[in-house]
Amino acid sequence: MIVAKFGGTAITPNNLHFVKNIITHHHGAVVVSAIGKQFDGDTKVTDLLKALHSRLPDTSLFDKIAFKYRSLVEQNDISIDINAILKDTITNIVQQNYYENTLSKGEELSAKVVAAFLGWKYVSAESLFRFGSRRLLGKETLKNISSVEGRFVTGGFYGARKDGRRVLFPRGGSDISAGIVAAALDASLYENWTDVNGLCIADPTKVNGAETVRCVSYSDMRLLAQCGATVLHPDSVLPAARKAIPINIRNYFNTSDCGTVVCNDSLPNQVLGVTARRNGNLYCTTIVFTLPHSVVAEAIYCMLKHADIHPMGVTGASNHLQLITVENILSAVYDVVMKLTS
Ligand code: ASP
Repeated sequence: MIVAKFGGTAITPNNLHFVKNIITHHHGAVVVSAIGKQFDGDTKVTDLLKALHSRLPDTSLFDKIAFKYRSLVEQNDISIDINAILKDTITNIVQQNYYENTLSKGEELSAKVVAAFLGWKYVSAESLFRFGSRRLLGKETLKNISSVEGRFVTGGFYGARKDGRRVLFPRGGSDISAGIVAAALDASLYENWTDVNGLCIADPTKVNGAETVRCVSYSDMRLLAQCGATVLHPDSVLPAARKAIPINIRNYFNTSDCGTVVCNDSLPNQVLGVTARRNGNLYCTTIVFTLPHSVVAEAIYCMLKHADIHPMGVTGASNHLQLITVENILSAVYDVVMKLTS
């Protein structure tokens, strides 16, 4: 049985039809994000909700969110009383008037709409993901999820305490919710559907021609995500890793591409990723690899010497090297390490 998670850009009026084409009889549960960006410069629904919350009791910004969900329903011919749902949503936001409740509403709306679209059961995330004061109550959550009967759709990113108060996962946390659902259901696969082919060796907006990594271990993926790779939330690999459930990052625009598989072992003799993260005036560049450490270190030191770059700090372990520099050395490091495997 497969658990599929769809990111916010899939839950948009023009792209929702991809979801139906992807779902097969193997799929047992779907986890969705709030509506994402529909075009360059657009604002994600979660960010609109954040702005709306800061302006309460002024609710005028809700019109933009309502418009997005109405378009999602109308453009995809979904039979659901979206106006009634939207009215209840804004009433609840105003009445409850706390941040976590307001921000959870995007995922709640998406899950209701996608459930109606697929003709599956909607199960509220607040009835599944149970929190103590702030921490997830693992056992209770797994039990709640595994007792759901039949195929269902739920919202990612949030859960609730026993008293009903909602609690959020970190931003991007629908990935975590889906990992937990996959673990609870002992899924054979956790598919994470997004708008890129998978994990790129380097940020494709910063480096030309960066290839997709085909197979990466849970721990290497987590490290890359912690160091700046945004394709998957770092914490989403933990529940899947514990049960050895492979995560397949796939592109709903390009279903012929097999994407990236996150599993027990990375492919040998590979560069798995180069990330750069700005921290104040400094850059932290991380290279994660399965090549011998000395081979990578030597090539990097040689490049740094030639370019007269003096890192302020270097750390590493058998699978990675991290450099703190004043300048952004992402492209230079990428060029050097890619030569090692060509
Ligand atoms: N909608 C939330 C966010 O924008 C959670 C998610 O998409 O995973 O961070």
